[in-house]
Amino acid sequence: MRMEGKVAVVTGGAAGIGQATAQKLCDLGASVAILDRNAEAGEESVAALEKSGYTASYFSCDVTVESEVKTAIAAAVARYGGLHILVSNAGIQRYGDVVTTTPKLWDETMDVHVKGCFHATKYAIPAMLASGGGAIVIVASVQSFTAINNSVAYVAAKHALLGITRSIALDFASRNVRANCVCPGAIDTPMLRQTAHLTGSPEKMLEAIGRMHALGRIGLPEEVANAIAFLASDEASFITGTSLIVDGGLLVPTGGMGFQESGIGTEGKQ
Ligand code: NAP
Repeated sequence: MRMEGKVAVVTGGAAGIGQATAQKLCDLGASVAILDRNAEAGEESVAALEKSGYTASYFSCDVTVESEVKTAIAAAVARYGGLHILVSNAGIQRYGDVVTTTPKLWDETMDVHVKGCFHATKYAIPAMLASGGGAIVIVASVQSFTAINNSVAYVAAKHALLGITRSIALDFASRNVRANCVCPGAIDTPMLRQTAHLTGSPEKMLEAIGRMHALGRIGLPEEVANAIAFLASDEASFITGTSLIVDGGLLVPTGGMGFQESGIGTEGKQ
């Protein structure tokens, strides 16, 4: 799974899953452009990668603004001479049910996740085609398949990303561009920690969330980055239009929770 000679763009690459992904792709030999609105964190991430001898750059970019995405991707392509991998990852977490969610909050959430992905793929794909093809990995969520309370805009946005993934996979398969998404469970990033801090006792909250996963813990950004790197690599050459759930078994009991609670199977014959 080597990526020497490949150029990758990672949106939201300054923190959390995006940062771990930038590191992983660099570990594999790719040149990485981090596109993020957080300049301080973006510059710091790149400085750490460069210190390790890697080729990486930060490009200031709010994925909700089409012109900024267009300019940043063009700048990355000009710097590294092509584009082979896009990781569309930038995201925010906002709360509200369908009654309490304001139109402003709805638009903000949709703009970052859905329009941001639209912008990134819209400008990355022509550069990939000019480079002979490429691989897109969209960071969706377990919320692409289910829902949590009080998060209607986030859940709707993450469901939409499955549709974008499938559409791109169909539209560009014949031109050597693959598109897949990863769907993480709860991952230990600044986003999750901010959520946990909304409660009185964040560490207890993180532990409780961890227990919901079959593996009994929340995931690490690096564990999602490994899955992203696989889908972005040539090892995944026959995989397109699908999603890889990286959730430590979180979704397994969802449908069977009632059965579990009833104790069925615990005393059955082997
Ligand atoms: P994170 O720790 O908050 O990092 C996200 C990065 O994206 C931050 O640097 C953030 O900048 C940046 N960003 C946000 N909005 C942006 C925009 N409009 N334009 C450019 N950059 C922007 O988040 P994370 O937990 O790593 O999440 C990454 C992705 O994984 C998201 O799509 C999220 O929905 C998804 N995900 C996360 C989890 C989880 O448990 N952590 C689970 C499932 C899915 P700021 O610091 O300025 O916000």
